[in-house]
Amino acid sequence: MARYTGPSCRLCRREGQKLFLKGDRCYTDKCAQTRRASVPGQHGQGRSKVSEYGTQLREKQKAKRYYGLLEAQFRAYFVRAASKPGKTGENLLQLLERRLDNVIYRLGFAMSRAEARQLVLHGHFNVGGRRVNIPSYSLREGEVIELREGSRRLEKFKANIEANSSRPMPKWLEFSAEKGTARIISLPAREDVDLIVDEQLIVELYSK
Ligand code: SF4
Repeated sequence: MARYTGPSCRLCRREGQKLFLKGDRCYTDKCAQTRRASVPGQHGQGRSKVSEYGTQLREKQKAKRYYGLLEAQFRAYFVRAASKPGKTGENLLQLLERRLDNVIYRLGFAMSRAEARQLVLHGHFNVGGRRVNIPSYSLREGEVIELREGSRRLEKFKANIEANSSRPMPKWLEFSAEKGTARIISLPAREDVDLIVDEQLIVELYSK
């Protein structure tokens, strides 16, 4: 599956917001968005007036980059969200938040979503007792995620869990660091998504 391989910090600077794409560096003074918050590129400093379309586009790009998706994948999520009952924007964020790679990151097994994706692809996790190596796997209420027996001894996981211990655990997840297991208590609600984004603008963009 194709993925963006360019500089991560450039994406944050383009969106004018920290997207936490680089792991521990994002929480230090070295963060490029903190040090140099201008829009990247030759004309970055000069851009001021943004059209309605431009505003909608930025909100979509922000969410897409935050979850590490490409356009086709993100649009497919929108189509799924629109086909479900309820508010399309909230459905969209819920579907993105339920991705297995996102949950692995939220639990603190990984320092970034990109690393979480890699760990899932390498088959380090079970869901409901079976190995799942699909980063886009959509978790359901009540499902149990566990770090596989052979992976529990790896220093990487111990170090990541330790380093991420101060990050707040979303209330829709129940996590036992000692056992390396977690459970989906409920599906995430809008307020559980900490990305600052106006999802209604994404809906308007795709509804044109
Ligand atoms: Fe974004 Fe992290 Fe880079 Fe800061 S360090 S600009 S949050 S990717």
